[in-house]
Amino acid sequence: MPPKLSVVVPFYNEGSGVDSLMERLVPVLDRAGERWEIVCVNDGSVDDTLPRLAAWHAKEPRIKALDLSRNFGKEAALSAGLLHAAGMAVVLIDGDLQHPPEVIPELVAKWREGYEMVYAVRRTRRDQAWSNRIATGVYYRMFRHFSEVTLPKDAGDFRLLDRKVVDALNRMPERNRFMKGLFAWMGFRQAAVPFDVGPRDQGRSKWGFVRLIRLGLAGLTAFSNFPLQVWSLIGAAISAIAFVYIVFRLLRSLVHGIDVPGYESIIISILFLGGIQLLSLGIIGDYLGRVFNEVKGRPLFIVRESYGIDLPGTTPLGPKTPGGAEDATR
Ligand code: UDP
Ligand code: MG
Repeated sequence: MPPKLSVVVPFYNEGSGVDSLMERLVPVLDRAGERWEIVCVNDGSVDDTLPRLAAWHAKEPRIKALDLSRNFGKEAALSAGLLHAAGMAVVLIDGDLQHPPEVIPELVAKWREGYEMVYAVRRTRRDQAWSNRIATGVYYRMFRHFSEVTLPKDAGDFRLLDRKVVDALNRMPERNRFMKGLFAWMGFRQAAVPFDVGPRDQGRSKWGFVRLIRLGLAGLTAFSNFPLQVWSLIGAAISAIAFVYIVFRLLRSLVHGIDVPGYESIIISILFLGGIQLLSLGIIGDYLGRVFNEVKGRPLFIVRESYGIDLPGTTPLGPKTPGGAEDATR
């Protein structure tokens, strides 16, 4: 009998938190009264996360685990879990207990009402530094402006997805997995459930400021062509100004004769244009890099070993042929 409810949990060096998570999560699922499974994804942890997960699997076979061959990042770990989750509904939840498992029944209740994507919305974010909070606020506003999708504010990866949504997500070929953007892009009937973010009791957040900015840029360039297009506008404006200036200079030299000093205007325009050109080249390069990444068509993740999960031998993009990334690992 396939489970009705799958819970996908990514783990990266969360060894100290595995036990407390399972001790809270399992009773919640038991009380929910559905056939359930927990799909843990060990995202290349270097601590004792994997042995602890394996021990839980030995004790409770409904707790399953995938071991990725290295740290592929949370988004890839989630993709791995989603690909191997069997439930009619799949809940994504963090492994550090910042997403209280007690909210899951509320998500399930909304799902029963007919919503296909139920996301948990943070009521408070006490764990964030003020600089991160401001940056996040500005970012969401920018995103709404420049791309075709609106990201629900304060919704993270803690959410429930209907089978239909999971299948759609598994079919998305892109390597650049900005999950929040993909979720919003897909549509479906969505509902929100508020929750309070727990404090991070073990370990520490893996998202430094730089990593957050990288994720933010990846999301923007994946869902908006504005950064590419804006340069034609800026270029046109600068050309227009330059044209007026050129006419002005020509007329002036006709009337007053040629004046040799002109160093400022020359150096200013060279520097200014040089800067703009480099900047726009950089942006084109960024998109080009992303295209290159997609074209290479590498799998999103590689599974080293699985505990309790049949590997279908497929990758999100790859054909169902032997020798696929996962086949090689069996
Ligand atoms: N995580 C992961 N791979 C990574 C980074 C994080 O699987 O490369 C997992 C991590 O173990 C945790 C979840 O993603 O379960 C959220 O990570 P974290 O708590 O560091 O992020 P935050 O709560 O600050 O958003
Ligand atoms: Mg966390």
